Amino acid sequence: LREDRSPAPDLEQPEPLPALTSPSRIVYPDIGATKQQVYDYYLEVGERLLTEIGGRLLSIVRCPDGITGQRFFQKHAGSGFGRSVKRIKVREADGDFAEYFYVEDLPGLMNLVQMNAIEFHPWGSRVAQLELPDRMVFDLDPDPSIAWKEIRRAARDLRDRLAEQGLPSYARLSGGKGVHVVVPLAPTADWEAVRRFCDHFATGVAEAEPDRFVATMSKARRQGRIFIDWLRNARGATSVAAWSLRARAGAPAAMLVTWDELARIRRPDHYGIRNAAGRAIPEETAAAIASAPPLPV
Ligand code: ATP
Ligand code: MN
Ligand code: MN
Repeated sequence: LREDRSPAPDLEQPEPLPALTSPSRIVYPDIGATKQQVYDYYLEVGERLLTEIGGRLLSIVRCPDGITGQRFFQKHAGSGFGRSVKRIKVREADGDFAEYFYVEDLPGLMNLVQMNAIEFHPWGSRVAQLELPDRMVFDLDPDPSIAWKEIRRAARDLRDRLAEQGLPSYARLSGGKGVHVVVPLAPTADWEAVRRFCDHFATGVAEAEPDRFVATMSKARRQGRIFIDWLRNARGATSVAAWSLRARAGAPAAMLVTWDELARIRRPDHYGIRNAAGRAIPEETAAAIASAPPLPV
């Protein structure tokens, strides 16, 4: 018998990168950035973005007519996604199942970009262990009256309080108005336990310094304060990934920064389509991600 040396079947091969349609369409009218430029950006940062979103269910913001047109916040798998966009049935709060999606590689990511995805918002758990989050996010949402340096100070204070509980954290500029303090976790506790911890932690911070923080959604109570949005940590909730562009004027991007960098950076939308591709994952951030302790009991 002759050994079969034929190459593996096609299905084993990664899907090729999708052909880009409408490359000259303007996506960001204010800076004249085209779909081609958005595609090139994502191609360049793809491997780094994938460390943030790979193997995680996604919500995406799609802007088929650019950021000034109609936008779609999409969490369910749609038609027209290529084979490299993986689909999975997920139980929703009402008990019914719906088809969600995720990507694991560059072809998958670029498929979504070709489908006019601008923003990428992953879950705090991986598909492999959907019910055990490995990331907590405290999203600092400031009242418009709050100065940026107060937001930076708030992020560092949260870092210190988390460290007291044995939880290393890192900072992520949202590319919008605020900062996210992210806590990598070993996937040991379920959503309910993580939700309870986050509620307790955020409520505790707000009760200790009620002039600076609130932990409830109420817009009225937010006046002059920073809302610690801990609701990002519920099953099915998402937060924006580092290197994701935002569908906002100027094409800002969310970005990982070290604590020292945060102390110097002048605005939460400092990074964007022009300078975000030059950023590597900071060593300090990588170390925090690698530490990933279990949720304290
Ligand atoms: P900013 O710093 O301006 O607050 P942000 O990304 O933190 O930017 P938020 O409005 O605080 O924006 O939202 C936090 C997260 O909630 C987002 O990153 C996103 O993942 C999720 N989110 C926002 N809008 C929606 C929506 N319409 N449906 C579902 N989730 C959303
Ligand atoms: Mn926010
Ligand atoms: Mn928020």
